[in-house]
Amino acid sequence: MIIAIDGPAASGKGTLARRIADHYGYAYLDTGLLYRAVACRLNAEGAAIDDEEAATRAARGLSQDDLRREDLRQRHAGEAASIVAAMPGVRKALVAFQRHFAQTPPGAVLDGRDIGTVVCPDAEVKLFVTASLEERARRRWKELGASGSEAQYRDIEEDLRARDERDANRAVSPMRQAGDAHLLDTTNLDIETAFLAAIDLIDGAVKA
Ligand code: C5P
Repeated sequence: MIIAIDGPAASGKGTLARRIADHYGYAYLDTGLLYRAVACRLNAEGAAIDDEEAATRAARGLSQDDLRREDLRQRHAGEAASIVAAMPGVRKALVAFQRHFAQTPPGAVLDGRDIGTVVCPDAEVKLFVTASLEERARRRWKELGASGSEAQYRDIEEDLRARDERDANRAVSPMRQAGDAHLLDTTNLDIETAFLAAIDLIDGAVKA
């Protein structure tokens, strides 16, 4: 059983995917971490972020240690990840790992940008989780707590907008809702309501 979850940054797809995996007792892979790890490895090696040869090498040689780095979740890592994620060599190097993971019994949940379209086009259930740009920026901003200024909100919104644009318009595996994916817009949903809506969609799709 494979559940593919795609969508833009800060749409809530990661939190949802983890909860869905827990609910069904399935394995979970946050595929964004793979691209983040490639970017962080390049940075650690002192290579330029647009060096495709070095990035492809880093993707091919990715280890478990790379996936445990503490800096993977930082904001700059997400930005850098979307630059290496546009490189065909990097994507090719990472797809086999993701497909292998997807076969974990009794099931697996993968979240990313191209899971339903490219990595697991035959997934039994596909969700495309989204929310308005303003709401996604507000969520990221809230995570900063009391220290978040209005100017930071604008910066975050601009980062997300630039990342969406890069992810949706790249030539290889652009972020796209698969034709057979269910759309889940979380703009006006709290996490609990979004989770229940996702479970309804999944149970409905499995029964159908
Ligand atoms: O999901 P997350 O924000 O951690 O992903 C970081 C970046 O990695 C995304 O902006 C996107 O460019 C890239 N990515 C991708 N395909 C995936 C997962 C992530 O291109 N399946």
